[in-house]
Amino acid sequence: MADAAGATAVVYIGLGANLNNPARQVEHAIGELAALPQSRLGAVSRLYRTAPLGPQDQPHFVNAAVRLDSALTPPALLEALQGIECAHGRVRDGRRWGPRTLDLDLLLHGDLNSRQPGLTLPHPEIHRRAFVLVPLLDIAPPTLLVPGQGVLAELLRRCGDDGIEPLAADTYGSGVPPRAALS
Ligand code: ADP
Ligand code: MG
Repeated sequence: MADAAGATAVVYIGLGANLNNPARQVEHAIGELAALPQSRLGAVSRLYRTAPLGPQDQPHFVNAAVRLDSALTPPALLEALQGIECAHGRVRDGRRWGPRTLDLDLLLHGDLNSRQPGLTLPHPEIHRRAFVLVPLLDIAPPTLLVPGQGVLAELLRRCGDDGIEPLAADTYGSGVPPRAALS
């Protein structure tokens, strides 16, 4: 459902996976995000291999970020993201920072700075997570303001990039639309 004005917002979504062929989970999810109603996929970051947060007895993650232009409201978008997570067999076992087939976080929704039950915007951990900031910088200007947190390039400078590296493009499939084809 569009918001009252039917306005389109620039939205950034973070993707992560560390089970069942994580690169493929992420690629398929990008295709599913591209197919969301009232939304258009604007840009796709590279895929990155990153160390897990918290419990270390789990595989490395694959992380990425995408930009959508979307007329969906934030709650409608979060519901759609959780639907895609479920379709990927995500099981929430209550273990914080545990392994998952797919995690989709609504990072930014335009310039919204709001806290509602179950949905905080921007996502409250952006500034602490290299695995979010580095992919974001692939697809957003360094001057992007993360409301309440700061400017993207400065957040990354403070957080550090953890030395995370993109996956070589030829080690994963071709499910991601070529970035050159996106505006
Ligand atoms: P995490 O992503 O922190 O590992 P989950 O994916 O299990 O954990 O999310 C936990 C809860 O975070 C979700 O039930 C969701 O309601 C809430 N949440 C709050 N703000 C956001 C946001 N901006 N994006 C995604 N989930 C959010
Ligand atoms: Mg999440």
